[in-house]
Amino acid sequence: MRHFDAIVIGGGLVGTAIGYGLARAGLRTALLDEGDVAYRASRGNFGLVWVQSKGLGAPHYQRWTRASAAAWPALAAELQLRTGIDVGLEQNGGLQLCLGEEELEKRRAMMQQMQREAGNFGFEYRMLDHPELAGMLPGLGKEVSGASWTPYDGHANSLALFHALHKAFAGRGGTYLPNVTVSDTQAAPSNFRIIAGGQAIDAPKIVLAAGLGNAKLAPLFGLSAPVRPQRGQILVTERTTRAWKLPLGSIRQTPEGTIMLGSSEEEVGFDTGQKPEVMQAIARRAVRTFPWLAELQIVRAWAALRVMPPDGLPIYDESQEYPGAFTANCHSGVTLAGAHANLFAPMVAAGALDPVLAPFSARRFDVSAAA
Ligand SMILES: Cc1cc2nc3c(=O)[nH]c(=O)nc-3n(C[C@H](O)[C@H](O)[C@H](O)COP(=O)(O)OP(=O)(O)OC[C@H]3O[C@@H](n4cnc5c(N)ncnc54)[C@H](O)[C@@H]3O)c2cc1C
Repeated sequence: MRHFDAIVIGGGLVGTAIGYGLARAGLRTALLDEGDVAYRASRGNFGLVWVQSKGLGAPHYQRWTRASAAAWPALAAELQLRTGIDVGLEQNGGLQLCLGEEELEKRRAMMQQMQREAGNFGFEYRMLDHPELAGMLPGLGKEVSGASWTPYDGHANSLALFHALHKAFAGRGGTYLPNVTVSDTQAAPSNFRIIAGGQAIDAPKIVLAAGLGNAKLAPLFGLSAPVRPQRGQILVTERTTRAWKLPLGSIRQTPEGTIMLGSSEEEVGFDTGQKPEVMQAIARRAVRTFPWLAELQIVRAWAALRVMPPDGLPIYDESQEYPGAFTANCHSGVTLAGAHANLFAPMVAAGALDPVLAPFSARRFDVSAAA
């Protein structure tokens, strides 16, 4: 039997950010991951640190996302220092471009609502019109009616982030156990035992961060994580001269010069296939936004599955039946990496989630609780 202070199940972006935070807090931490057979959102995402549309009607989610975005620069600097990996963070705000007046008016109303709901916490935004945007974005299509801007948004190289978190975790003495599919456990309050690769390990704390795998794992620990897959497809162009640095919602140019176009939202279950008609729709919108994009070759395209809770908001919980068991689920694991490493992990290390996370409990889906 190997003893740890904490076990994290799931070595995707969420589990690794939390695992790193736990190891940094001095906990002997084991990070278990299923391996290449798994559905992994962490390897197929768009790389946005995106704040401006998070939490409409749910200001606690806006505050949590903002806290994460605020933690990002320090996390990026710390990872660079500890691992030598530059995660490529550019965080000078972001623009959500709108096509046509109807989209723009909807966006304006949404941003007004976000600001109203933020109350004293504040929500800084601006609406930009076509002429102003045209001065910033070379070759802007005439169909672009305007955009919303907030200073909080950014983007990063999410694969570099993933690599850096793993490396920093190991550097802090964390134990990574790959190719381990957890399907069973012996759970007791503050005492969790798991067979990992033929070897028994135990710890008084456990964090379920297995992405889509959490739906099956959570009930073993008296928790609930009713996440479903939602497919997103992404296209990537060949490299070209850097035309802009701000992420533009579903279009972003990386520092290397490729332009990423994304990403669909499809309810197709566990199907990671690509659909030509969806790829066409993504490309068409991009070309309406910047007609010159039609000249570029698409060099890569993929589909990946988001980890989607029923209402789109993260699920964070601690088990009442088995104290010491926690779960973390979200569809914005890049954006929320700062919060997971710097806020959530310290809560787990301290033994309880902060009341600020109470609205994220899966108990919100409990019909009898809501009645
Ligand atoms: C197309 C697309 C675009 C996206 N764009 C963005 C974006 O721009 N910005 C943003 O913030 N987020 C974005 N996301 C979301 C982000 O990628 C995810 O929120 C994040 O990757 C989820 O990480 P995760 O660790 O929860 O899940 P995953 O990456 O799925 O990792 C879960 C891990 O758990 C392991 N696992 C599963 N079951 C078990 C088990 N039983 N035992 C052991 N291990 C297990 C798997 O091996 C896997 O490695 C996007 C996602 C997609 C699909």
